[in-house]
Parts: sequence; C-alpha cells; structure tokens
Amino acid sequence: MIRENVKKILDELPDGVILVAAAKTRTPEEILEAIEAGVQIIGENYVQEAERAYEVIGNRAKWHMIGHLQKNKVKKAVRIFDMIETVDSVKLAKEIDKQCKKIGKVMPVLVEVNSGEEPQKSGVMPDEVVDLVKEISQFENIKVEGLMTMGPLLDDPEELRPYFRKTRELFERIRDMDIPNVEMKYLSMGMSDSYKVAIEEGANMVRIGTKIFGPRIYNEKGPL
Ligand SMILES: *Cc1c(COP(=O)(O)O)cnc(C)c1O
Repeated sequence: MIRENVKKILDELPDGVILVAAAKTRTPEEILEAIEAGVQIIGENYVQEAERAYEVIGNRAKWHMIGHLQKNKVKKAVRIFDMIETVDSVKLAKEIDKQCKKIGKVMPVLVEVNSGEEPQKSGVMPDEVVDLVKEISQFENIKVEGLMTMGPLLDDPEELRPYFRKTRELFERIRDMDIPNVEMKYLSMGMSDSYKVAIEEGANMVRIGTKIFGPRIYNEKGPL
C-alpha cells in the first residue's frame, strides 16, 4: 500500500512541489518502502525516533526535523538532520549554530510560523517573524531557507486557507527584503488533508504522513 500511495502522490504533485514523508510512529521498514517508491525526504518529529530510523536507513534519504526541537536535543539533531523546519526562537537557533560549528556544518532551517496565533502552540507569531529571521541570519552555521507552518487544527481544510495565505505573504515579504545570508526558497505547508489547499496558496513543500503510511495507531507515548 505504501508504495502505491507514494506513487500516486508523486504523480499528482505539481512540478516544483517537494514531498516530505512525515514518518512519526512508523518503522524503518515502512520508511524504506516509501523511499523505494520514490520518497527522497523523511520528516521526523522526535530526535530519538529519528536516530533509530537513521541507524537503519542512513543517507538513503534526506532527513527533516518537523517537530518541536528541545535545546537539549540539538547536539544529536544536527548530526542527523539535513534541515530543521521548526526554528522558532533565537535561543534555539543559537544552540543549532553552536553545535553545527563544532561539526563543521551549515544547517538549512525554516522558521516555524504560528499562523493561527495560538498561545499554546510552537512557532513564532506572524508579526515577530521578520525580526527573528534578521537575527538568525547573523549566525554563520545556519542558513534560513524559508518558512513552515502547521495552522490550527481544523476539520475542513478550506478553513486553513487564510493561515496558509498569511504565511505565504510573509514568505514573499521576507524574500523581497533580500536579507544577507537568507534565501527564501521553501514554503512548507500542508499535510494529508490540507496539502492541496496549501499548494494553491503557494506551498512548495508538503509534509504528508497518513496518506502515505495509513492511519497512525501509536504515538511516542503509547496507543492513541
Ligand atoms: C504528523 C505531521 C504531519 C503529517 O500529518 P498527516 O496528517 O499524517 O499527513 C505533517 N507535519 C507535521 C509537523 C506533523 O507532525
């Protein structure tokens, strides 16, 4: 099933839209099946889970961190990941910079936007994004390459459209500012239920889990 799902999605995605397979709770075997069907980027939410999968799969795919990253996990994360999509504070960026310096790596990052402006959620508030990007751009071992957003949890993907649009407008605004060491290339928005709307609103990177791997039965903490 995974193979067919991947092929169908890859067939349907417009040119220039990059697929990230969101692999939380999936086994290395499931992830490998997706890779064999053409997936090139794996998105992981937890460093520990990524480590286990990376041990088996290694560089047969690129690895994106798409979950909230804790400062004490950065040292491990920078060794595994090819991109961190969820930078939302100077403190986190500073730690990524520090740990990357030690291993001679420049980490591509996306700034996560809390487009729903929900206090309990991760991501930076929309009106603070420009300042954060400017500050992060100073770090030598980090390269800002775009924005990522989740949007609020809503049943109807159409209701997410305004949040995707707002994030895209921010993306374009920052791109037009031509900030040194910032290259706005990627706009990561949309999941299984919402990626079509996200692409209509300008996403060129989509993070799809369920539609590739099927419904999730377990999460990190146990059965759902
Ligand atoms: C789980 C997850 C996805 C994919 O969600 P699906 O609904 O399973 O496609 C995308 N992005 C992030 C950050 C996720 O945690």
